[in-house]
Amino acid sequence: MLSHNLGYPRIGSQRELKRASEKFWAGKIDRDELQKVARKIRHENWAIQQAARIGLIPSNDFSLYDQVLDISLTVGAIPERYHQLLDGKSNKELDLYFAMARGYQRDGHDIKAMEMTKWFDTNYHYLVPEFTKNQQFKQYSDKILLEFEDALQKGIVTKPVLLGPVTYLLLGKEKEEGFDKIDLLEKLLPVYISILKELYARGATWVQLDEPALVLDLTAKQKLAFETAYSAIRKSVPKLKILVATYFGALEDNLDTAAGLPVDALHIDLTRGAGSLCALLEHEAFVNSTRKLSLGVVDGRNIWKNDYRKSLEFISAAAQVLGEDRLMIAPSSSLLHSPCDLDLETDETILTPDIKNWMSFAKQKLAEVVEIARLESIEWVLDKAFIENQKAIETRRNSPLIHKPEVEDRLTKVCDADFNRLNNFEIRQQIQLEKLKLPLFPSTTIGSFPQTDEVRLLRANMKKNLLTLEEYETRIREEIVRSLRWQEDLGIDVLVHGEFERNDMVEYFGESLSGFVFTQNGWVQSYGSRCVKPPVIYGDVERPAPMTVKWSAFAQANSQKLVKGMLTGPVTILQWSFVRDDQPRKDTAFQIGLAIRDEVVDLEKAGIKVIQIDEPAIREGLPLRKTNWSAYLKWAVDAFRLSAAGVADQTQIHTHMCYSEFNDIIDSIAAMDADVITIETSRSQMELLDAFANFNYPNEIGPGVYDIHSPRVPTVDEMVLLLEKALKVIPARNLWVNPDCGLKTRQWPETEAALRNMIVAGGLLREGL
Ligand code: GLN
Ligand code: ZN
Repeated sequence: MLSHNLGYPRIGSQRELKRASEKFWAGKIDRDELQKVARKIRHENWAIQQAARIGLIPSNDFSLYDQVLDISLTVGAIPERYHQLLDGKSNKELDLYFAMARGYQRDGHDIKAMEMTKWFDTNYHYLVPEFTKNQQFKQYSDKILLEFEDALQKGIVTKPVLLGPVTYLLLGKEKEEGFDKIDLLEKLLPVYISILKELYARGATWVQLDEPALVLDLTAKQKLAFETAYSAIRKSVPKLKILVATYFGALEDNLDTAAGLPVDALHIDLTRGAGSLCALLEHEAFVNSTRKLSLGVVDGRNIWKNDYRKSLEFISAAAQVLGEDRLMIAPSSSLLHSPCDLDLETDETILTPDIKNWMSFAKQKLAEVVEIARLESIEWVLDKAFIENQKAIETRRNSPLIHKPEVEDRLTKVCDADFNRLNNFEIRQQIQLEKLKLPLFPSTTIGSFPQTDEVRLLRANMKKNLLTLEEYETRIREEIVRSLRWQEDLGIDVLVHGEFERNDMVEYFGESLSGFVFTQNGWVQSYGSRCVKPPVIYGDVERPAPMTVKWSAFAQANSQKLVKGMLTGPVTILQWSFVRDDQPRKDTAFQIGLAIRDEVVDLEKAGIKVIQIDEPAIREGLPLRKTNWSAYLKWAVDAFRLSAAGVADQTQIHTHMCYSEFNDIIDSIAAMDADVITIETSRSQMELLDAFANFNYPNEIGPGVYDIHSPRVPTVDEMVLLLEKALKVIPARNLWVNPDCGLKTRQWPETEAALRNMIVAGGLLREGL
């Protein structure tokens, strides 16, 4: 049975690509040096896959920044504003490429980068292709050919990977009115076909075209585009074997379309779309064809060991209907979304051997794929590798490290009342008005203040034991007091302690909760050179002790003004971690919700009257298919309510969200029932606020009046204008004045200037009424 891989992480096991790219951008190394590092990573990746005995090894899965941008350059979809970089001079492709990725401010040019957005429901971000009405396509970059030839020289006939034409178009954006991007297919196809022909001429036997759009809701016209595209491709390169890869979900109503494509193989994701397997095995036309079926049995997006029994059962079911010869085995998706190599986790104080034995990173996943393919052909029950695998699965299933009866018990006892505040918002607002005595248009910030090198060094030294706990805490307390005095001087109404003790809003809580572990090197690419190292939730989550009370209580004790407690919400913690796969996400979210609830209650007991529970990632968790939205939103909102509802009416609960569109989920946001929500709106000039206005959103709201992503200091007038705009749609008594998000990435001088202007703007607004 043929094993293959859909794509390998390209950052390098030591994040070599990140380092080299950043050096290149800073002008510290030249392009040859960067290309050398890139080539080395590619060669290493191929060597790793060869050593693992993967049958078909991918090429062109590597990218210096993003695989979607690579295709834009390959098919010459280069937006007009970059054409000034095209003229004449040779060797400019790399400059153009990074200009599209990151913008270009040099030699008198000032060109904006392309927009970036999330790749399906992952935390990877791609650069959104831009299309115009008269869009032309023309083969521009030879990257895919060069990488194929490079591997060929090493004796490997790779399977080049490229984003399929239909998904590519669907991921793009129409930059003008009056056309449908899918109608560009006709012009795009000749470029794809010519590339495929060239690959065939150079000796390629298989090519993988990724069409993950096949797991999305599609219109009839979009479905038809798949047929058009692949019929044309089939006719033009009849002998090149084409594999169409779908992943991240089930085919559902796109099954007929996918099953009917005139290609040589179809890949399905069995970790997120197992339903497609049964459906395909009952699909007469597919069964009666000669098409191969690639079974994505090893999860490309998580870090858990594969359960060989489960995978082998899928394979047997498929083999019975299709025969073994028609099956291929692979990871569910590209391994881009997994960390590189579990073998690099050598520090047993960070990742204990028992938990490590349940895990598998990209390199280990390759071995699993090959092992599963081997086991399939033998009496697996007696095989040593199989037995060992099942032992690991079994220990994990029953481990007391994972299962905490008291946590599981508490979860079963959660009842309706636990999700509800005592009284509705109207009553709470009245009580809070009396108790908190806040002025009209109260001002606040979102939580973090500039994380200076000094503060970072403090934490780093503490981790390295270069500071005693006492020294460290004294220094943090000094930072807190300084920031309190500073906020008081500015005249902010609800203060924050500044989050100086936190490196990351999820990691900080993960470190204090049970059921979480961290890795030394479990980096995953987020975009470009940006990588994240998500915590791993392996077991039942519990809060052994208060996590933030000490800092918040200290801050409150040091100011006459209200100081806001600051927490990360359950959905965001879930969304930005690797999550256990042995129970529904909902259960894990509720466990975290209960832990945060305990913290909220303890903060209240310690005299904190305003508590913010950040949920910036609520929207990110939305399922790919609309039909699944309501179920997700129900439990996501419930998890938040569970965390918030343990306090008295007079305690004011805030939440915060950013990077969001709110229109289609506004009822869920309202259902969270936070007393105050602060949101990002300044970049859209308050447009995002319309959703709240149209919905008659009842609770208090702080639409961000300035963009914290830029060092630019907004003027008073600008902010007054935005606030006036907000006042048109939000009742005055509900309006707060605050920035868009936390200020940790900013410097102090601009922060001070911006907040000072913000307070003046709020004051002018008050006077104006
Ligand atoms: N409280 C966090 C901060 O201020 C919120 C960050 C976020 O929304 N991403 O940094
Ligand atoms: Zn934010």
